[in-house]
Amino acid sequence: MKPQYHVASSALVAGILYITFKSWSMSLSCLLSGILIDIDHVYDYVKEFGFPFKVKDFVNTVYHNGISRLTFVFHSWEILLLLGIVASFTNWNAWIAGVIIGFGHHIVLDKLNNEERLRTYSFIWRWGKQFEFETTFPNDAKRKMNSRAR
Ligand SMILES: [Zn+2]
Repeated sequence: MKPQYHVASSALVAGILYITFKSWSMSLSCLLSGILIDIDHVYDYVKEFGFPFKVKDFVNTVYHNGISRLTFVFHSWEILLLLGIVASFTNWNAWIAGVIIGFGHHIVLDKLNNEERLRTYSFIWRWGKQFEFETTFPNDAKRKMNSRAR
């Protein structure tokens, strides 16, 4: 999903959290994490293309699926589980709860938008497939092939 939609959805969810819990720390951490989770694209881009880092080329590559391997470390159900464990040990600290909700709604929206299976957002499953884009994101890969054929 494109960044502007993540900004809008994160702002909406953060607003709902604020209205519900009256916690600016939970709202702020939700807003920031819902947007900044995509920072994991930088690792995959730099790993494949190296430096110098060109923002325009990065955006074109990431949002038009030009990367052959997607580690996507923050886009995973496992990170939500780990954050949930940490949150339970901190008595559901508002900052951590906000990050869980920010990451969580972002991943769900990406999953729905990309029309991929649930397992696509499992880090362990992708690891087992060596993070190969065409294997782990087959629907995105098909769209990429079709757009090139036109
Ligand atoms: Zn994303």
